[in-house]
Amino acid sequence: MTRKPFIAGNWKMYKNGQQAQDFIRQFIPLVNSWEAHQVGLAVSATVLKEAVSTVATVGSFPLIIGAQNMHWEIEGAFTGEISGSMIKGTGATMVILGHSERRQLFGETDEWVARKLAAALDYGLTPIVCVGETLQDRESGRTFNVLANQLTGCLAGVSDHSLGSIVLAYEPVWAIGTGVTATVEQAQEAHAFIRGRLSRQFSPQAAEAVRILYGGSVKPDNAKSLLDQSDIDGALIGGASLDPVSLAKIVNLA
Ligand code: PEP
Repeated sequence: MTRKPFIAGNWKMYKNGQQAQDFIRQFIPLVNSWEAHQVGLAVSATVLKEAVSTVATVGSFPLIIGAQNMHWEIEGAFTGEISGSMIKGTGATMVILGHSERRQLFGETDEWVARKLAAALDYGLTPIVCVGETLQDRESGRTFNVLANQLTGCLAGVSDHSLGSIVLAYEPVWAIGTGVTATVEQAQEAHAFIRGRLSRQFSPQAAEAVRILYGGSVKPDNAKSLLDQSDIDGALIGGASLDPVSLAKIVNLA
């Protein structure tokens, strides 16, 4: 089973419209091949539309633009939130769900992620669903329990068929934004566990087809060994995605 590598940048709360435009114009020509892998950028909600139109201005490159969060309702009295339909309306086609910063800083639960996931699939957005253990979980030997619970909770209600439209990201919380990367063995072990678990929750065929990205301090100098692992199908990249040269280097290694 060949799974097309997917490299996605997560800009978090960085880059205004002008900075997003400058990045995209610089980044696109640095990518060697747009066929070999999919590439996405999760930008601030305020620059979604500008990012989409900048990609179109540069040419016909399949650079995917997405959001970093969404609400499950189409509209309503939810101050500060954006809906899947609003994201769709900007021309963006991807959304990150359940990022550990959302879980830890904003109290997002697996149940919320499941609702958001259902809404994202309804709008035809490509969801990147994040799971991962904290350092405390790992040190107390609970990594696989935590991952199993997150997969059960976040993917509740997902059918075998719709699993094919979902991208998963394994992001050990202790490796995000810390400069500490999981070893290739730790990352491959967790990815293999996730795929094994999915093959019981869904069908083995669906589990075999789903892409599982690694996230946690991925940089040009550690990306290759991670991406070479059999169950690692790409990367979700925070810090290193803010620099077009770094991100393009990682894409060109994938
Ligand atoms: C992330 O934000 O999803 C992430 C993995 O960040 P970093 O690459 O900076 O660790």
